[in-house]
Amino acid sequence: MKFLPYGRQTIGADDVRAVVSVLKSPWLTQGPKIAEFEAELCSRTGARCAVAVSNGTAALHLACLAAGLRKGMEVVTSPVTFVASANAVVYAGATPVFADIHPGTYTLDPGEVRRRLTARTKALVTVDFAGQAAGAEELWRLARSRGLTVIEDAAHAIGSRYRGGAPVGSCRFAHMTTFSFHPVKTVTTGEGGAVTTNSTELAAKLRLLRTHGITKEPRLLSRHPGPWYYEMQELGFNYRITDLQAALGLSQLRKLDRFVRRRREIVSMYNDAFRGVPRLTIPLEAEGLRSAFHLYVLQVDFKALGTTRGAFMEGLKGRGIGSQVLYIPVHLQPYYRERFRGRPGQYPRAEAFYERTLSLPLYPALTDADVRRVVRAVRCLVSREG
Ligand SMILES: *Cc1c(COP(=O)(O)O)cnc(C)c1O
Repeated sequence: MKFLPYGRQTIGADDVRAVVSVLKSPWLTQGPKIAEFEAELCSRTGARCAVAVSNGTAALHLACLAAGLRKGMEVVTSPVTFVASANAVVYAGATPVFADIHPGTYTLDPGEVRRRLTARTKALVTVDFAGQAAGAEELWRLARSRGLTVIEDAAHAIGSRYRGGAPVGSCRFAHMTTFSFHPVKTVTTGEGGAVTTNSTELAAKLRLLRTHGITKEPRLLSRHPGPWYYEMQELGFNYRITDLQAALGLSQLRKLDRFVRRRREIVSMYNDAFRGVPRLTIPLEAEGLRSAFHLYVLQVDFKALGTTRGAFMEGLKGRGIGSQVLYIPVHLQPYYRERFRGRPGQYPRAEAFYERTLSLPLYPALTDADVRRVVRAVRCLVSREG
């Protein structure tokens, strides 16, 4: 019986060919594939500019720096996310402030965000949790009325659409949108990430910071002593992506529509199977949105079932099925408890969500038979325990 992990990459012969062709080319890094990948990200999302980087965390870090975040500034973000969304704010020297989630969509609740704003708030890092950009318009309106920068962490949401149909990444409701291309995400480059923006000014800043703050572009140099000359104008990083990775990303992006379609099919199979089952709550896709569904997030009332999540997960594992808890609320991580006084009870909805959450296998290569196997296993555990 094959083991079904909660997520995994889908690599085809076309992807292998794309990477091998770069290996045989003169460029392993900083060749033509990076610009091609960025152009394809622009055409996919509708954004004016895309800057590809070494991973999704680097994308968030550079977005925070390009937004001018620094010590003394506060940034409101969600506690229901991977730690990187908040860590990037800390890297920039600013202070992350969490706001509670909407109980149905598990994304930032605009009313809760408003309650957390102070005179020091400079930006929002919104998170398209599990793939849906719920509340994006409301958060954008709120941010605009207060002069805040919106950085949208769309690590889960390439291929998703806002209400009204604009693609996530178009920056319709954000100044900058960041993506991750880690193998568990919807398209992969191994490690990789990107920032999209409609501001050429922000894009130039992101590009500068991606390579040590060094530029060779004649119009940006303060003097022109010769063709060898370059300037380091800011303290940047080596956050470059390679041509090998960009070639893989290009090949993967060609299959994005198919990947998203299959993810959505699997989600409807799960939803049909679990809808109305006592002790289970299926994920809600907010009206008018189209989620690419990075995750299938089921809520299970383990207590009412007379079991624990650990035992439930072991039961699935015994049937060859992986599951994952995404995420432990960030404010409850030891670092955030110590550095930013995170305490249990601060964000009751995020904590209630965490108590019951379980992510089930979801990736395009799952067959209908695999999905039925997961459904049978969950149903069996629910009826046995309940
Ligand atoms: C994966 C992920 C990141 C970080 O991306 P990496 O490419 O792993 O650095 C950031 N935010 C969220 C919500 C993620 O899921």
